[in-house]
Amino acid sequence: MIIVLKSGATDEDVQRVIDCIVEMGLKPHISRGEFRTIIGAIGDESKLKAERFQGLPAVDAVMPVMKPYKLASRDFRPDDTVVAVKGRRFGGRFLSVIAGPCAVESLDGLREVARRVKAAGAGLLRGGAFKPRTSPYSFQGLGLEGLKLLKQVSEETGLPIVTEALDTRDVEVVAEYADIIQIGMRNMQNFALLTEVGKINKPILLKRGTAASVEEFLMSAEYVLSQGNKEVILCERGVRSFEPSVRNLLDLSAVPNIRSVSHLPIIVDPSHSTGRRDLVVPMALSAVAAGAHGVMVEVHQNPQEALCDGPQQLTPDDFDKLMAALLEIARVVGKEVSSGE
Ligand code: PEP
Ligand code: MN
Repeated sequence: MIIVLKSGATDEDVQRVIDCIVEMGLKPHISRGEFRTIIGAIGDESKLKAERFQGLPAVDAVMPVMKPYKLASRDFRPDDTVVAVKGRRFGGRFLSVIAGPCAVESLDGLREVARRVKAAGAGLLRGGAFKPRTSPYSFQGLGLEGLKLLKQVSEETGLPIVTEALDTRDVEVVAEYADIIQIGMRNMQNFALLTEVGKINKPILLKRGTAASVEEFLMSAEYVLSQGNKEVILCERGVRSFEPSVRNLLDLSAVPNIRSVSHLPIIVDPSHSTGRRDLVVPMALSAVAAGAHGVMVEVHQNPQEALCDGPQQLTPDDFDKLMAALLEIARVVGKEVSSGE
């Protein structure tokens, strides 16, 4: 930690800061400039309480040197974490593709989409049974019935399931049916839910909140990791912006940005970030080019009749084209598309 004193700080002010540092078990390092004195605290920064220094009248700024997250950081684990689910791998040189409808609506529709996306090379099937809708009057998902349909189609096709848990009360039942539990962007800072999924033995797909910084996103991952669950896959899905022509602004820089500071796999959702079918393919390909460990794409057998997110869902034919191009880009960036086959 670095403590910058205000200009005009007296020798007593400097001594007070030094005493605080020593009291907390660290070593002070004093650098006196012409106008200002800067004091470094050397040692285990976790022992330091920044508020103690912020409260001193002569202190201008207190700057931590260490990142506030530990288990999620590359300092803690220099090599990429690879999360594997039934042979589908996320992380390192592997990428996986998750595809399926926004919500589970019917057995026939889900089955048709699952067969088509599997044939095109997707590794996992998505579909919401518990849907986080902005309006309480919108379709809220089929709940337990939806989970059962996902399980049936998973058994028929061999595709593992990714589905969302909205609430701490749903975690147990979702964990019974899902292979990967999704935490949606609205719940990125639902710390009770993060703590709950941190205790289970299934990978977690954690989506970035639309108003969350990269650091806040990684702090949420830290919540899960700190409970013992080491299998967290991050998902960039866009942030709020002033641009009205897209639903959110996909922050593709988050992919290499996060990869430089964290060992966790990171995938991209081009569907919810853009909200527009015509932008899904270019953004999915750009995500892979930027180093993402996968993409999650919404696909519906008949998007015009979808009960939610119709304008962004691809048709199975669109998805075929996406996969053909994605395999090419993956090859160029040296990634292996892992579909479990
Ligand atoms: C979803 O993936 O089904 C979803 C609702 O996404 P988000 O939480 O990113 O809006
Ligand atoms: Mn959706």
